[in-house]
Amino acid sequence: MKDYAVKLNHITKTYGKKKVIEDISINVRIGDIYGLIGKNGAGKTTILKLISGLIRQNSGSMEILGEVTEHGLNRARKRTGSLVENSYLYPYFDGEKNLEYYRIQKGLKDKKVVEETLKLVGLYDVNKKKFSKYSLGMKQRLGIAQAIMGRPDLLILDEPINGLDPTGIVELRELLLKINRELGTTIILSSHILNELFMIANRYAFIHDGTLIEEVSKEELDEKCRRYLKLKVND
Ligand code: ATP
Repeated sequence: MKDYAVKLNHITKTYGKKKVIEDISINVRIGDIYGLIGKNGAGKTTILKLISGLIRQNSGSMEILGEVTEHGLNRARKRTGSLVENSYLYPYFDGEKNLEYYRIQKGLKDKKVVEETLKLVGLYDVNKKKFSKYSLGMKQRLGIAQAIMGRPDLLILDEPINGLDPTGIVELRELLLKINRELGTTIILSSHILNELFMIANRYAFIHDGTLIEEVSKEELDEKCRRYLKLKVND
């Protein structure tokens, strides 16, 4: 149990009569960058909301950071950061003020964390620029900065790459790899485009219509792609 940051065991979630998640079991190991892949409406956001404790499952159990939980995350929640619904960033505050305000709200004692986090996400040089003037990539990075202010063990991100231009994608990828490497944070993130996560994640879950199709490591995925390409060439 200790080796896992997140374990979902036969989770089902319904909205009214509609089953949007059906009997999903996934295992995210400590230190993983774990990609949830699926087209729009597959159920990725719902899974991330369940893990973040924003909604409750109808059946099945969850272990988050070693804590078994039926209802959200309880204590483990304090050790997670997430960017699943909107971030709490104010358009007329600059980057520094946004993080400082959040630090106070969260009761984080160490004042240096604002500067350190801005540096970590590469926004220290523009710390006096208003959030509304940021590019989409910068906005995403400040959202991530906010989510990691408390130096969580688990970071949950819903479609963080969506809409970014190629430079923004590279910058975000580098940032997530850095957070994983330097802070030791386990990361779960979603995308509807496999390519976007291909250079980041080391494990993947393919979700379709609320069910898990397959959970694979990067090596297994590489191998499958190679086999598929070989088939194509030999056809
Ligand atoms: P997207 O990238 O479009 O957000 P997704 O894979 O994240 O897709 P979800 O947002 O988890 O998918 O939605 C899964 C299914 O659940 C969809 O059919 C969606 O319409 C439905 N759904 C999500 N939230 C609700 C809700 N609050 N009430 C009813 N149905 C919902």
